[in-house]
Amino acid sequence: MTHVLISGASIAGPALAYWLRRYGTDVTVVERAPAPRAGGQGIDVRGAARTVVERMGVMEPIRAAHTGVHGMAYVDSRSRRMAEMSSEAFGDSGGVIADIEILRGDLMRIFIDAADGVEYLFDDTITALSETAGGIDVTFEHAAPRRFDLAVGADGIYSATRRIAFPAGSWRIVDSGIYRAVFTAATSLDLDGWELMYSMPAGNGTTAGRNAMLYPAHGGARGMFHFASGPIEYDRRDIEAQKRIVAGVFAGADWEVPRMLESMWRADDFYFDGAGTVRMDTWHHGRVALVGDACTAGSVGMGTSMAIVGAYILAGELARAGGDHRVAYPAYQDAMRDYVAANLKPLPGGTKGFLPATERGIRLRNTLMRWMMRLPGKSLMMGGIDKAVNAIDLPDYSTLPRTTVNTS
Ligand SMILES: Cc1cc2nc3c(=O)[nH]c(=O)nc-3n(C[C@H](O)[C@H](O)[C@H](O)COP(=O)(O)OP(=O)(O)OC[C@H]3O[C@@H](n4cnc5c(N)ncnc54)[C@H](O)[C@@H]3O)c2cc1C
Repeated sequence: MTHVLISGASIAGPALAYWLRRYGTDVTVVERAPAPRAGGQGIDVRGAARTVVERMGVMEPIRAAHTGVHGMAYVDSRSRRMAEMSSEAFGDSGGVIADIEILRGDLMRIFIDAADGVEYLFDDTITALSETAGGIDVTFEHAAPRRFDLAVGADGIYSATRRIAFPAGSWRIVDSGIYRAVFTAATSLDLDGWELMYSMPAGNGTTAGRNAMLYPAHGGARGMFHFASGPIEYDRRDIEAQKRIVAGVFAGADWEVPRMLESMWRADDFYFDGAGTVRMDTWHHGRVALVGDACTAGSVGMGTSMAIVGAYILAGELARAGGDHRVAYPAYQDAMRDYVAANLKPLPGGTKGFLPATERGIRLRNTLMRWMMRLPGKSLMMGGIDKAVNAIDLPDYSTLPRTTVNTS
């Protein structure tokens, strides 16, 4: 029986583990975090990815964990709504907020719980991979060295698997110039199921505008900041230093920002990152393949869906090829190619549309949005997400031999 090592237990990793178990494969998942990380940002499951989660039989718990967000509004400093986009206005998958919006930690937990028999190694990471004729020898930071048949990097945009296993120069990360922070936030506002976005012009050293967002989640609120900047050097493990960067960029801002900054300092689930796109021609090298953000990061609101669809196809192709990675890996990438290309598009309106740099630009964007929401062709302003989310004919693997993956 094939034994696959997966690095990363967020969305792509546990989804892949589920499907591999379903085809009778042994699976070990190694995750750097000490335990499954709860919370996280609100993410959307769109188009073909909805079909995959239906095939996994987990639509019910996903619906039960819905964040409760049913629209997004641009607000002014007095929280008056300048433009509104309800999730229904664009169908189930085509808007800023999809019909299925769930916290990343909740979706991860649902995927982990969906499959029995997966071995999870938390608080560990791969340190070396060495391929031999019969398998792949892996050393870990903590666990004893082991041999697997195959290894898959589902460890996100800064994938360690990619760095270790792929030749230098075969991949690169293109910086978008947009930084974001997410955390549990306090607010005095009644969000009533709406995500609110307050835009501010450039300031405090940013290269374009800034915005602050609040959205409801499980009776509380999550806060998010975005800003545009030239490259910022920071230590990924130094959370306090990252909070200082954000506090500097938003110092002196009005609306709910001072309250959000206060809760940011207290938050133990703070996340800060620059958004980027992974560019690489080939997602596999020898016995190692990549899935999710490790190879497809860079979309607008489609990262989760591409991770789910990628996991489904990678596992299906491996099962179809009887575990022969030389057949399965190229078939997986071929099946994903057009879908990923359709979804790796820049933000509609570019950085300036998302983060207008002046008060005038913000007013203009809000007015435009208000008008477009009244037009029949309003989905055009979403840059065709509604079509891109379904730009794949999901292969049917239902005739492949299967095992029961959840006995509970
Ligand atoms: C602020 C923000 C907002 C977003 N909004 C949306 C949205 O609205 N819709 C949407 O679809 N997507 C959104 N995304 C993107 C979405 O979160 C990702 O596309 C999705 O989570 C990809 O899943 P993944 O499993 O491939 O990677 P990730 O979720 O990045 O997970 C990678 C995992 O690997 C682990 N890991 C990293 N390094 C190692 C290592 N060396 N060893 C072991 N484990 C390691 C990490 O701890 C993590 O658990 C957003 C992302 C962010 C940051």
